[in-house]
Amino acid sequence: MTATSQDNSDNRPDALLEVIEQRWGYTSLRPLQHEAMQAAVDGRDALVVLPTGGGKSLCYQAPALLNDKPTVVVSPLISLMKDQVDPLIERGIPAAYLNSSLDPADRRLVCDGIVRGRYKLVFVAPERFAAEGFFDMLDQGGVGAFAIDEAHCISHWGHDFRADYRQLGLLKQRYPAVPVHAFTATATPRVRQDVIEQLHLSDPLVLVGDFFRPNLTYTVHRRRRGFTSIISAVRKRSGRAGIVYCIRRADVDELAAQLQAAGISAVGYHAGMTDEQRTQTQDSFATGRVDVVVATVAFGMGIDRADIRFVIHAAMPKSLEHYQQETGRAGRDGQPAECILYYTGGDFGLWQSIIGNGDATNVEDQTRCLGTMYSYCTGPSCRHRRLVTYFGQQWDRDTCGACDFCNDRPDALGDSTVIAQKIMSCVLRTGQRFGAGHVADVLMGSLTDRARKWGHDELSTYGLLPDQSKPVLMQWMDQLVDQDLLTREPQYRTLAVTQQGWRVLRSETDASLYAIAGAEAKPAPKRRGRTPARATLPSNEHRPHAATAPRPLDADQRVLFERLRDLRRTLAEERNVPAFVIFSDKTLRELARARPTSEAEMLAVRGVGRAKYATFGDRFLDAIQAHG
Ligand code: ADP
Ligand code: ZN
Repeated sequence: MTATSQDNSDNRPDALLEVIEQRWGYTSLRPLQHEAMQAAVDGRDALVVLPTGGGKSLCYQAPALLNDKPTVVVSPLISLMKDQVDPLIERGIPAAYLNSSLDPADRRLVCDGIVRGRYKLVFVAPERFAAEGFFDMLDQGGVGAFAIDEAHCISHWGHDFRADYRQLGLLKQRYPAVPVHAFTATATPRVRQDVIEQLHLSDPLVLVGDFFRPNLTYTVHRRRRGFTSIISAVRKRSGRAGIVYCIRRADVDELAAQLQAAGISAVGYHAGMTDEQRTQTQDSFATGRVDVVVATVAFGMGIDRADIRFVIHAAMPKSLEHYQQETGRAGRDGQPAECILYYTGGDFGLWQSIIGNGDATNVEDQTRCLGTMYSYCTGPSCRHRRLVTYFGQQWDRDTCGACDFCNDRPDALGDSTVIAQKIMSCVLRTGQRFGAGHVADVLMGSLTDRARKWGHDELSTYGLLPDQSKPVLMQWMDQLVDQDLLTREPQYRTLAVTQQGWRVLRSETDASLYAIAGAEAKPAPKRRGRTPARATLPSNEHRPHAATAPRPLDADQRVLFERLRDLRRTLAEERNVPAFVIFSDKTLRELARARPTSEAEMLAVRGVGRAKYATFGDRFLDAIQAHG
């Protein structure tokens, strides 16, 4: 059956506002709420991207009241459905949820209500559409509209792909005349396009809210002494409401205990706690009895406290999407709030292993998100700018006035413009067809297979910046992208010089590059100049270290090791991740020694896990076989 939308609905322009004032008591609308609701009233498909706290729920709830047929809301978390439905019922709005948490009697009641079309809003999880008989129930009761919450979960390109979401693509086929409205708080332009395609939205209205939150101040620190600085940061903010995010449950427990020992009333929250404990924590925080919650990402969805003054990340989150969403919970009352992030390279490795040990379907996508997050931490540039442009919004301010970079801008390197010119020349000379990793190799004068294959070792820009390390060069390229001097093609990550970049090349204007704090910035050991670098293989032991010196490789193994390193570099570049994400030097050395020829042999090498084998195994086996 195909339900037609809204035929008998009341679509006077002010009807919505009346309903909202009556039922919710709001006298004004947040940005884009009106446009989003109008699309629903008009029965037009829509994709609405509004930041957390932007008021997305109202955008499907209020129009549902004007619709004579029920609106089916798809929401990923069963645990939150009750929190969404209860307030609706309190407002006198017939609403229900259908999920596995209902006991048989309630379930019968809800099913009966759906069949009779009794509800204005019905909340279900995506897997419900695979359940037997559900479509029949909808057909009997009718459907006026579908609202898809957390719509980014349908996309592989996002940070939170859920296989169950994929079947939502069927909705349009089955109900071509029923409008579908997709909502999310975080979607890059690529994810947006994918959501539209996967859901088969037809001529959708796309609304993207303003992600710039000037009342939030962003700061990033490299974490040095365990939790010490975090505890003192929380203590300095005593009496104010805040959330401290950790990666692991064990860290939550540990940090909460240390904060309590320091006299701060902090409580922990993670998925390993009982429902009762968690509800209790949520309530104490919501009502202000507790000011600080130490939590894993599990905490936050559905948090309705507007006066959160700080969000501290005790460790790096796994994507900018997560980071933006978690920090977005601060300062929803519009008053100043702080977002402070502590990270180490170890956080990267920890996430890497968590991702690798998980369900391996989108290891690569997650790894890419992780790489972007890490580069946010290490890259000296305006934090707001980075976040906002990541989500596809234009940025035309000189400074945000609310981040560590803008407020305490480091001095640019004295020879910034010359370095920028060298980098951009190399991008041009290599034909604007390569990513940052390869351009860095050419600038450093690394004789990689790739450089050889493309004849890039013959270029005038080969070995032009021999004293810089690859991570530093890549970071500088990120900075040039940030300054719109280079652009990066979104899919293949190739770099090209912009108009503005040309002006720098012609010395009409200057560029600013900044030194990079922390370990990544360690300059590589002096390389020999251009000629010897071409004549010899790059040495594999840049940093001899007596205590941990690995068993030396023989000459042939060394050649293979270098080949594997080149391959690793290529793979890292393709994915825009640091090379160590793929395999450590140690693992490569072991591979060069063991020369595995099968999956089993390769898995026997330390450092090669199943997930990595699935992603990279063939490439390495091929390389080893090619070496003979
Ligand atoms: P999102 O789902 O976009 O994160 P919510 O729908 O949970 O945001 O809304 C965030 C908060 O803002 C809720 O407390 C909601 O009641 C409130 N809110 C939404 N729209 C308005 C409005 N027009 N006026 C006042 N408060 C609103
Ligand atoms: Zn800034």
